[in-house]
Amino acid sequence: MRTIPFGRPIIGEEEKRAVADVLESGVMAHGPKLEAFEDAFAERTGAPHAVAVSSCTAALHLLYFHLGLGPGDEVIVPAMTHVATAHAVELTGAKAVFVDAEPRTGNIDLDQVAARINERTRALSVVHYLGVPVDMAPLQSLARERGLHIVEDCALAVETRRDGVHAGLFGDAGCFSFYPVKHITSGEGGMVITRDADLARSIRKQRAFGMDKHVRERKVPGVYDVQALGFNYRMNDIQAAIGIEQLRRLDGFMQLRARNHARLHSGLEAIEELQLFETEAEGVQSSYYCLSAVLGEGLVTKRADVIEALRARGVGTSVYYPHPVPRMTYYREKHGYDGNAFPVATRIADASIALPVGPHLSDNDVDYIIAMVKEAIAGANKK
Ligand SMILES: *Cc1c(COP(=O)(O)O)cnc(C)c1O
Repeated sequence: MRTIPFGRPIIGEEEKRAVADVLESGVMAHGPKLEAFEDAFAERTGAPHAVAVSSCTAALHLLYFHLGLGPGDEVIVPAMTHVATAHAVELTGAKAVFVDAEPRTGNIDLDQVAARINERTRALSVVHYLGVPVDMAPLQSLARERGLHIVEDCALAVETRRDGVHAGLFGDAGCFSFYPVKHITSGEGGMVITRDADLARSIRKQRAFGMDKHVRERKVPGVYDVQALGFNYRMNDIQAAIGIEQLRRLDGFMQLRARNHARLHSGLEAIEELQLFETEAEGVQSSYYCLSAVLGEGLVTKRADVIEALRARGVGTSVYYPHPVPRMTYYREKHGYDGNAFPVATRIADASIALPVGPHLSDNDVDYIIAMVKEAIAGANKK
């Protein structure tokens, strides 16, 4: 039987050789690969500054820490996202205040943002859901009017652009993930991009304990001062070496993602029981992270059956994301959120199935997935 995983990193001889080179060099941290990866990522995205860190979650936490958030502060967070988007806020002692999604793209509902802003609000966080860019202009004006920061969670948004501008360059900063099933991987890893030189300088220090001098800037080895709190959120040179090679493959990855997505979309769009998100619009460049299909009302209670039928036929799936974040136990208990107060996010969480479109798929795999989705739905309809 064929098996098509939801995601699979593509690692070749180049990555293996790059890792071996770093191991042989003996320089596994603070080395040349880290800077080379940052430079390559900055060039690729058009960002004036890029700072590599240990994960996207670390990147987000570092940003809120840098902004000085603490107890009594609030940040607007989309309900339909990875829990990391909200955890990064809560880790500082500030509170995540959620806004529902809009049904066309699954992105934050722009019409509901203003009503959640109050005197405690410090920042707006956005997630480019599944790689489709949020319409940033209204948020930028809102942030300007109300004196708020904008933090972009770009974990699914490598190569996401709006009007030619890469995701992460609309707000104060953007945070990327190199977790293995994302667009490119470094094993684990993350990156912050920003136009703000002071912000970049400050998080560079805070990712390494708040030390005032980088290893290579120290006049006397081992001697430095610390003027502020910081973490150890560094990316190491082994990770960076993998990331550099993955960036070299990115054009090829993106061509395949776009092609697989288009083929899968046209094979599924006529299926009455499925609703597909909008990915094409004027000025919009999606990163085609996956194709998430929302089951019609009649099949919602049978989602587990559809997923199981696909699994039995070798088709890997996932759910992006399994709950509106405020419905998760921690958030319900901490803030008393009503998990059902976010109807669109709830529907996506409970009724969607994410299908693969990654570069590990051939045209033939895509056709197989289309046929198997039809079979799985026909089977569920009969139950
Ligand atoms: C995967 C993901 C994260 C977490 O990324 P890590 O690099 O694993 O910390 C954060 N936000 C979103 C939207 C994600 O999909």
